[in-house]
Amino acid sequence: MTALPLVFDAPRRGMPPRHLADLSPEEARTAVTELGQPAFRADQLARHFFRGVTDPAQMTDLPAASREALTEALLPGLLTVVRHQTADNGRTRKTLWRLHDGALVESVLMRYPDRATVCISSQAGCGMACPFCATGQQGLTRNLSAAEIIGQAVAAAAAMANGEIDGGPGRLSNVVFMGMGEPLANYARVRKTLDALLTPAPHGLGLSQRSVTVSTVGLVPAIRRLTDEGRNVTLAVSLHAPDDELRNTLVPINTRWKVAEVIDAADAYARKTGRRYSIEYALIRDVNDQPFRADLLGELLAGKLAHVNLIPLNPTPGSPWDASPLPAQREFVARLRAAGVATTVRDTRGQDIDGACGQLAAADRVEGVPSLAVPVPSVEPPLELGAEGDE
Ligand code: SAH
Repeated sequence: MTALPLVFDAPRRGMPPRHLADLSPEEARTAVTELGQPAFRADQLARHFFRGVTDPAQMTDLPAASREALTEALLPGLLTVVRHQTADNGRTRKTLWRLHDGALVESVLMRYPDRATVCISSQAGCGMACPFCATGQQGLTRNLSAAEIIGQAVAAAAAMANGEIDGGPGRLSNVVFMGMGEPLANYARVRKTLDALLTPAPHGLGLSQRSVTVSTVGLVPAIRRLTDEGRNVTLAVSLHAPDDELRNTLVPINTRWKVAEVIDAADAYARKTGRRYSIEYALIRDVNDQPFRADLLGELLAGKLAHVNLIPLNPTPGSPWDASPLPAQREFVARLRAAGVATTVRDTRGQDIDGACGQLAAADRVEGVPSLAVPVPSVEPPLELGAEGDE
Protein backbone atom coordinates (compact mmCIF):
# COMPACT_ATOMS: atom_id res chain seq x y z
CA MET A 1 0.00 0.00 0.00
CA THR A 2 1.39 3.41 -0.92
CA ALA A 3 1.50 5.96 1.85
CA LEU A 4 -0.24 9.18 0.89
CA PRO A 5 0.92 12.58 2.07
CA LEU A 6 -1.09 14.49 4.66
CA VAL A 7 -2.89 17.40 3.04
CA PHE A 8 -4.23 20.27 5.12
CA ASP A 9 -4.69 23.08 2.69
CA ALA A 10 -7.55 22.39 0.36
CA PRO A 11 -7.28 23.74 -3.16
CA ARG A 12 -9.33 26.91 -3.55
CA ARG A 13 -10.65 25.85 -6.93
CA GLY A 14 -14.18 24.75 -7.49
CA MET A 15 -16.00 26.44 -4.65
CA PRO A 16 -19.69 26.88 -5.54
CA PRO A 17 -21.68 30.12 -5.87
CA ARG A 18 -22.93 31.85 -2.73
CA HIS A 19 -26.03 30.36 -1.17
CA LEU A 20 -28.42 31.50 1.54
CA ALA A 21 -27.14 28.67 3.76
CA ASP A 22 -23.62 30.14 3.67
CA LEU A 23 -24.96 33.29 5.31
CA SER A 24 -26.01 34.09 8.85
CA PRO A 25 -29.65 35.19 9.19
CA GLU A 26 -28.44 38.82 9.40
CA GLU A 27 -26.28 38.45 6.29
CA ALA A 28 -29.19 36.82 4.48
CA ARG A 29 -31.45 39.74 5.32
CA THR A 30 -28.83 42.16 4.03
CA ALA A 31 -28.42 40.14 0.85
CA VAL A 32 -32.17 40.22 0.25
CA THR A 33 -32.39 43.97 0.74
CA GLU A 34 -29.50 44.38 -1.70
CA LEU A 35 -31.73 42.62 -4.21
CA GLY A 36 -34.37 45.29 -3.59
CA GLN A 37 -36.61 43.10 -1.43
CA PRO A 38 -37.82 43.54 2.13
CA ALA A 39 -35.55 41.83 4.66
CA PHE A 40 -38.21 39.40 5.90
CA ARG A 41 -38.08 37.63 2.55
CA ALA A 42 -34.84 36.08 3.80
CA ASP A 43 -36.80 34.30 6.50
CA GLN A 44 -39.32 33.07 3.93
CA LEU A 45 -36.56 31.79 1.66
CA ALA A 46 -34.83 30.08 4.58
CA ARG A 47 -38.06 28.37 5.62
CA HIS A 48 -38.44 26.94 2.14
CA PHE A 49 -34.81 25.86 1.90
CA PHE A 50 -34.71 24.07 5.24
CA ARG A 51 -37.93 22.25 4.31
CA GLY A 52 -36.28 21.07 1.13
CA VAL A 53 -38.32 23.31 -1.18
CA THR A 54 -36.27 24.82 -4.00
CA ASP A 55 -38.90 25.10 -6.74
CA PRO A 56 -39.96 28.77 -6.96
CA ALA A 57 -43.47 27.70 -8.04
CA GLN A 58 -44.04 26.26 -4.58
CA MET A 59 -43.03 29.45 -2.80
CA THR A 60 -46.48 30.90 -2.86
CA ASP A 61 -45.82 33.27 0.03
CA LEU A 62 -43.37 35.17 -2.18
CA PRO A 63 -44.61 37.56 -4.88
CA ALA A 64 -44.55 35.69 -8.20
CA ALA A 65 -42.51 38.46 -9.81
CA SER A 66 -39.56 38.10 -7.43
CA ARG A 67 -39.47 34.33 -6.79
CA GLU A 68 -37.20 33.50 -9.69
CA ALA A 69 -34.77 36.32 -8.99
CA LEU A 70 -34.55 35.50 -5.29
CA THR A 71 -34.05 31.77 -5.76
CA GLU A 72 -31.53 32.30 -8.53
CA ALA A 73 -29.52 34.69 -6.39
CA LEU A 74 -29.76 32.90 -3.05
CA LEU A 75 -30.83 29.29 -3.57
CA PRO A 76 -28.68 28.04 -6.45
CA GLY A 77 -28.97 24.26 -6.85
CA LEU A 78 -25.68 22.93 -5.46
CA LEU A 79 -26.34 19.21 -5.05
CA THR A 80 -27.61 17.00 -7.85
CA VAL A 81 -28.59 13.42 -7.11
CA VAL A 82 -26.59 11.02 -9.27
CA ARG A 83 -28.19 7.97 -7.67
CA HIS A 84 -29.71 6.54 -4.53
CA GLN A 85 -28.88 3.03 -3.32
CA THR A 86 -30.89 1.36 -0.59
CA ALA A 87 -30.08 -1.47 1.79
CA ASP A 88 -31.30 -2.93 5.08
CA ASN A 89 -34.88 -3.36 3.83
CA GLY A 90 -35.12 0.20 2.62
CA ARG A 91 -34.04 1.63 5.97
CA THR A 92 -30.60 2.72 4.75
CA ARG A 93 -30.16 4.94 1.74
CA LYS A 94 -26.88 6.13 0.30
CA THR A 95 -26.98 9.12 -2.04
CA LEU A 96 -24.28 10.03 -4.50
CA TRP A 97 -24.27 13.77 -5.14
CA ARG A 98 -22.67 15.69 -7.98
CA LEU A 99 -21.48 19.17 -7.09
CA HIS A 100 -21.45 22.11 -9.48
CA ASP A 101 -17.87 21.41 -10.57
CA GLY A 102 -18.39 17.69 -11.12
CA ALA A 103 -16.91 16.62 -7.78
CA LEU A 104 -18.81 13.73 -6.19
CA VAL A 105 -19.67 13.18 -2.53
CA GLU A 106 -21.89 10.76 -0.66
CA SER A 107 -24.25 10.88 2.31
CA VAL A 108 -26.02 7.99 4.04
CA LEU A 109 -29.41 8.15 5.75
CA MET A 110 -30.10 5.42 8.30
CA ARG A 111 -33.47 4.89 9.91
CA TYR A 112 -33.70 3.11 13.26
CA PRO A 113 -36.78 2.41 15.37
CA ASP A 114 -36.09 5.40 17.61
CA ARG A 115 -34.16 7.80 15.39
CA ALA A 116 -33.02 8.69 11.89
CA THR A 117 -29.39 9.61 11.35
CA VAL A 118 -27.71 11.09 8.33
CA CYS A 119 -23.99 10.70 7.84
CA ILE A 120 -22.75 13.69 5.83
CA SER A 121 -19.57 14.63 3.97
CA SER A 122 -17.60 17.78 4.74
CA GLN A 123 -14.98 17.53 1.99
CA ALA A 124 -14.74 15.96 -1.46
CA GLY A 125 -12.13 13.31 -0.72
CA CYS A 126 -9.93 13.65 2.34
CA GLY A 127 -6.36 14.72 3.01
CA MET A 128 -5.80 12.69 6.17
CA ALA A 129 -4.52 9.58 4.34
CA CYS A 130 -5.65 6.89 6.81
CA PRO A 131 -4.63 3.69 5.01
CA PHE A 132 -7.71 1.63 5.98
CA CYS A 133 -10.23 4.26 4.81
CA ALA A 134 -11.49 4.35 1.23
CA THR A 135 -11.94 8.14 1.30
CA GLY A 136 -8.50 8.66 2.82
CA GLN A 137 -6.98 6.77 -0.08
CA GLN A 138 -8.54 9.18 -2.58
CA GLY A 139 -6.75 12.29 -1.48
CA LEU A 140 -8.40 15.67 -1.06
CA THR A 141 -10.26 17.30 -3.95
CA ARG A 142 -11.69 20.30 -2.13
CA ASN A 143 -13.58 21.59 0.87
CA LEU A 144 -17.33 21.70 0.63
CA SER A 145 -19.06 25.01 1.18
CA ALA A 146 -21.34 25.33 4.20
CA ALA A 147 -24.37 25.19 1.92
CA GLU A 148 -23.10 21.99 0.28
CA ILE A 149 -22.73 20.34 3.68
CA ILE A 150 -26.01 21.69 5.05
CA GLY A 151 -27.79 20.69 1.84
CA GLN A 152 -27.07 17.01 2.54
CA ALA A 153 -28.76 17.25 5.95
CA VAL A 154 -31.68 19.23 4.53
CA ALA A 155 -32.19 16.62 1.81
CA ALA A 156 -32.22 13.90 4.47
CA ALA A 157 -34.71 15.82 6.61
CA ALA A 158 -36.96 16.30 3.58
CA ALA A 159 -36.66 12.61 2.61
CA MET A 160 -37.78 11.63 6.10
CA ALA A 161 -40.61 14.18 6.18
CA ASN A 162 -41.84 13.16 2.73
CA GLY A 163 -41.91 9.45 3.57
CA GLU A 164 -39.20 8.54 1.05
CA ILE A 165 -37.62 6.08 3.47
CA ASP A 166 -39.42 2.86 4.35
CA GLY A 167 -41.46 3.17 7.52
CA GLY A 168 -43.57 6.19 6.61
CA PRO A 169 -43.00 9.89 7.18
CA GLY A 170 -40.67 10.66 10.06
CA ARG A 171 -38.21 13.18 11.37
CA LEU A 172 -34.46 13.45 10.92
CA SER A 173 -33.11 13.41 14.46
CA ASN A 174 -29.32 12.99 14.18
CA VAL A 175 -26.46 14.21 12.04
CA VAL A 176 -22.98 12.70 12.12
CA PHE A 177 -19.95 14.11 10.31
CA MET A 178 -18.69 10.66 9.43
CA GLY A 179 -19.01 10.78 5.68
CA MET A 180 -16.20 11.85 3.39
CA GLY A 181 -13.62 14.30 4.66
CA GLU A 182 -12.11 15.58 7.87
CA PRO A 183 -14.64 18.08 9.26
CA LEU A 184 -12.16 19.94 11.43
CA ALA A 185 -9.89 20.54 8.42
CA ASN A 186 -12.81 22.54 6.94
CA TYR A 187 -13.43 24.29 10.21
CA ALA A 188 -15.13 27.57 9.30
CA ARG A 189 -17.71 25.91 7.08
CA VAL A 190 -18.38 23.07 9.46
CA ARG A 191 -18.89 25.63 12.19
CA LYS A 192 -21.52 27.36 10.01
CA THR A 193 -23.11 23.99 9.37
CA LEU A 194 -23.40 23.37 13.12
CA ASP A 195 -25.20 26.69 13.47
CA ALA A 196 -27.67 25.75 10.75
CA LEU A 197 -28.27 22.29 12.22
CA LEU A 198 -28.91 23.66 15.69
CA THR A 199 -30.82 26.85 14.86
CA PRO A 200 -34.62 26.46 14.97
CA ALA A 201 -36.78 27.23 11.92
CA PRO A 202 -36.81 29.23 9.78
CA HIS A 203 -33.01 29.52 9.66
CA GLY A 204 -32.07 25.95 10.56
CA LEU A 205 -33.12 22.38 11.23
CA GLY A 206 -33.53 22.79 14.99
CA LEU A 207 -31.66 19.63 16.01
CA SER A 208 -30.43 19.17 19.57
CA GLN A 209 -26.74 19.52 20.39
CA ARG A 210 -26.37 15.97 21.62
CA SER A 211 -27.78 14.54 18.41
CA VAL A 212 -25.06 16.12 16.27
CA THR A 213 -21.67 14.38 16.23
CA VAL A 214 -18.44 15.79 14.82
CA SER A 215 -15.90 13.05 14.18
CA THR A 216 -12.22 13.90 13.81
CA VAL A 217 -8.85 12.25 13.29
CA GLY A 218 -7.65 14.49 16.12
CA LEU A 219 -6.71 17.95 14.85
CA VAL A 220 -5.87 19.22 18.31
CA PRO A 221 -5.95 23.00 17.71
CA ALA A 222 -9.32 22.63 16.01
CA ILE A 223 -10.72 20.51 18.86
CA ARG A 224 -9.62 23.26 21.23
CA ARG A 225 -11.26 25.86 19.05
CA LEU A 226 -14.48 23.86 18.96
CA THR A 227 -14.31 23.67 22.75
CA ASP A 228 -14.46 27.46 22.89
CA GLU A 229 -17.40 27.79 20.49
CA GLY A 230 -20.09 26.72 22.95
CA ARG A 231 -21.88 24.54 20.42
CA ASN A 232 -21.64 21.50 22.72
CA VAL A 233 -22.17 18.91 20.04
CA THR A 234 -20.94 15.36 20.58
CA LEU A 235 -17.27 14.89 19.79
CA ALA A 236 -15.96 11.64 18.33
CA VAL A 237 -12.23 10.99 18.05
CA SER A 238 -11.01 8.38 15.58
CA LEU A 239 -8.27 6.82 17.70
CA HIS A 240 -7.84 3.30 16.31
CA ALA A 241 -4.73 2.65 18.43
CA PRO A 242 -3.83 3.47 22.03
CA ASP A 243 -0.09 3.74 21.32
CA ASP A 244 1.74 6.28 19.18
CA GLU A 245 3.80 3.71 17.36
CA LEU A 246 0.80 2.01 15.77
CA ARG A 247 -1.34 5.14 15.53
CA ASN A 248 1.40 6.89 13.52
CA THR A 249 0.72 4.37 10.77
CA LEU A 250 -3.07 3.99 11.05
CA VAL A 251 -3.90 7.67 11.53
CA PRO A 252 -0.92 9.53 10.04
CA ILE A 253 -1.93 12.86 11.65
CA ASN A 254 -0.65 11.24 14.84
CA THR A 255 2.86 12.14 13.72
CA ARG A 256 1.74 15.73 14.37
CA TRP A 257 -0.46 15.37 17.45
CA LYS A 258 0.15 12.36 19.69
CA VAL A 259 -2.39 10.16 21.43
CA ALA A 260 -1.87 11.93 24.76
CA GLU A 261 -2.40 15.37 23.21
CA VAL A 262 -5.59 14.27 21.46
CA ILE A 263 -6.99 12.72 24.64
CA ASP A 264 -6.10 15.88 26.57
CA ALA A 265 -8.01 18.00 24.06
CA ALA A 266 -11.00 15.63 24.18
CA ASP A 267 -10.95 15.71 28.00
CA ALA A 268 -10.99 19.50 27.93
CA TYR A 269 -13.95 19.33 25.55
CA ALA A 270 -15.78 16.99 27.90
CA ARG A 271 -15.06 19.26 30.89
CA LYS A 272 -16.34 22.32 29.07
CA THR A 273 -19.44 20.75 27.53
CA GLY A 274 -20.26 18.18 30.21
CA ARG A 275 -20.66 15.77 27.34
CA ARG A 276 -19.08 12.35 27.05
CA TYR A 277 -16.89 12.01 23.99
CA SER A 278 -16.71 8.97 21.83
CA ILE A 279 -13.55 7.09 20.86
CA GLU A 280 -13.88 5.41 17.48
CA TYR A 281 -11.80 2.27 17.09
CA ALA A 282 -11.98 0.14 13.94
CA LEU A 283 -11.00 -3.38 14.93
CA ILE A 284 -8.50 -4.66 12.37
CA ARG A 285 -7.50 -8.32 12.55
CA ASP A 286 -4.01 -8.78 14.02
CA VAL A 287 -3.25 -5.08 13.59
CA ASN A 288 -4.88 -3.28 16.54
CA ASP A 289 -7.12 -5.93 18.11
CA GLN A 290 -4.65 -7.64 20.48
CA PRO A 291 -5.65 -8.07 24.13
CA PHE A 292 -2.67 -5.93 25.26
CA ARG A 293 -3.96 -3.04 23.15
CA ALA A 294 -7.40 -3.40 24.73
CA ASP A 295 -5.68 -3.10 28.11
CA LEU A 296 -3.66 -0.08 26.99
CA LEU A 297 -6.83 1.59 25.72
CA GLY A 298 -8.58 0.74 28.99
CA GLU A 299 -5.76 2.35 30.98
CA LEU A 300 -5.83 5.40 28.74
CA LEU A 301 -9.56 5.98 29.19
CA ALA A 302 -10.37 4.63 32.65
CA GLY A 303 -12.14 7.28 34.71
CA LYS A 304 -12.59 9.61 31.77
CA LEU A 305 -15.86 10.96 30.39
CA ALA A 306 -15.42 8.74 27.34
CA HIS A 307 -17.16 5.94 25.56
CA VAL A 308 -15.56 3.51 23.12
CA ASN A 309 -17.31 2.72 19.88
CA LEU A 310 -15.73 -0.33 18.27
CA ILE A 311 -16.29 -0.67 14.53
CA PRO A 312 -15.49 -4.00 12.91
CA LEU A 313 -13.31 -2.90 10.00
CA ASN A 314 -15.16 -2.54 6.73
CA PRO A 315 -12.61 -3.87 4.27
CA THR A 316 -11.90 -1.50 1.40
CA PRO A 317 -10.76 -2.49 -2.07
CA GLY A 318 -7.04 -3.14 -2.35
CA SER A 319 -6.51 -3.23 1.40
CA PRO A 320 -4.80 -6.27 2.92
CA TRP A 321 -6.73 -5.77 6.15
CA ASP A 322 -9.77 -7.50 7.47
CA ALA A 323 -12.22 -7.17 10.36
CA SER A 324 -11.31 -8.82 13.65
CA PRO A 325 -12.93 -12.20 14.18
CA LEU A 326 -15.78 -12.31 16.70
CA PRO A 327 -13.80 -13.91 19.54
CA ALA A 328 -11.17 -11.16 19.30
CA GLN A 329 -13.91 -8.51 19.28
CA ARG A 330 -15.53 -10.05 22.35
CA GLU A 331 -12.23 -10.22 24.21
CA PHE A 332 -11.51 -6.59 23.34
CA VAL A 333 -14.92 -5.48 24.61
CA ALA A 334 -14.59 -7.55 27.78
CA ARG A 335 -11.20 -6.07 28.65
CA LEU A 336 -12.37 -2.51 28.09
CA ARG A 337 -15.45 -3.07 30.23
CA ALA A 338 -13.35 -4.70 32.91
CA ALA A 339 -11.30 -1.47 32.95
CA GLY A 340 -14.54 0.42 33.58
CA VAL A 341 -14.79 1.92 30.10
CA ALA A 342 -18.24 2.09 28.48
CA THR A 343 -17.97 0.18 25.23
CA THR A 344 -20.30 -0.61 22.36
CA VAL A 345 -19.82 -2.29 19.00
CA ARG A 346 -21.19 -0.31 16.10
CA ASP A 347 -23.60 -1.98 13.73
CA THR A 348 -22.47 -1.82 10.15
CA ARG A 349 -25.41 -0.41 8.25
CA GLY A 350 -25.17 -0.20 4.52
CA GLN A 351 -22.17 -2.47 4.13
CA ASP A 352 -23.57 -4.14 1.03
CA ILE A 353 -23.92 -0.79 -0.75
CA ASP A 354 -20.46 0.37 0.35
CA GLY A 355 -22.23 2.83 2.59
CA ALA A 356 -20.65 1.83 5.88
CA CYS A 357 -17.98 3.76 7.77
CA GLY A 358 -14.85 4.26 5.73
CA GLN A 359 -16.33 2.90 2.53
CA LEU A 360 -17.40 6.16 0.96
CA ALA A 361 -15.28 6.65 -2.12
CA ALA A 362 -17.23 8.51 -4.74
CA ALA A 363 -14.88 8.48 -7.71
CA ASP A 364 -13.42 11.89 -8.32
CA ARG A 365 -14.52 13.22 -11.68
CA VAL A 366 -13.62 16.85 -11.47
CA GLU A 367 -12.94 17.87 -15.03
CA GLY A 368 -9.54 19.35 -15.75
CA VAL A 369 -8.46 18.91 -12.17
CA PRO A 370 -5.91 16.35 -11.05
CA SER A 371 -7.60 13.92 -8.73
CA LEU A 372 -4.66 13.14 -6.53
CA ALA A 373 -3.74 15.12 -3.49
CA VAL A 374 -0.90 17.56 -3.83
CA PRO A 375 2.08 16.50 -1.72
CA VAL A 376 2.81 18.88 1.12
CA PRO A 377 6.32 20.29 1.43
CA SER A 378 8.52 18.47 3.90
CA VAL A 379 8.75 21.56 6.08
CA GLU A 380 5.68 21.79 8.28
CA PRO A 381 3.09 23.89 6.48
CA PRO A 382 1.13 26.42 8.52
CA LEU A 383 -2.05 24.65 9.56
CA GLU A 384 -4.88 27.06 8.98
CA LEU A 385 -7.79 24.76 9.74
CA GLY A 386 -10.03 26.85 7.58
CA ALA A 387 -9.49 29.87 9.78
CA GLU A 388 -11.03 33.28 9.31
CA GLY A 389 -10.31 34.67 5.90
CA ASP A 390 -10.71 31.23 4.44
CA GLU A 391 -14.05 32.00 2.83
N1 SAH B 1 -12.39 12.19 9.13
C1 SAH B 1 -13.29 11.94 10.20
C2 SAH B 1 -14.69 11.52 9.79
C3 SAH B 1 -14.86 10.50 8.69
S1 SAH B 1 -14.67 8.79 8.96
C4 SAH B 1 -12.71 10.91 11.13
O1 SAH B 1 -11.74 10.26 10.76
O2 SAH B 1 -13.18 10.77 12.25
C5 SAH B 1 -15.84 8.20 10.07
C6 SAH B 1 -15.32 7.04 10.88
O3 SAH B 1 -15.12 5.85 10.10
C7 SAH B 1 -13.96 7.33 11.49
O4 SAH B 1 -13.93 6.90 12.81
C8 SAH B 1 -13.04 6.49 10.64
O5 SAH B 1 -11.83 6.22 11.26
C9 SAH B 1 -13.88 5.27 10.42
N2 SAH B 1 -13.42 4.42 9.31
C10 SAH B 1 -12.72 4.80 8.22
N3 SAH B 1 -12.47 3.75 7.44
C11 SAH B 1 -13.04 2.68 8.03
C12 SAH B 1 -13.15 1.31 7.68
N4 SAH B 1 -12.63 0.85 6.56
N5 SAH B 1 -13.79 0.49 8.55
C13 SAH B 1 -14.35 0.97 9.68
N6 SAH B 1 -14.30 2.25 10.04
C14 SAH B 1 -13.65 3.11 9.23
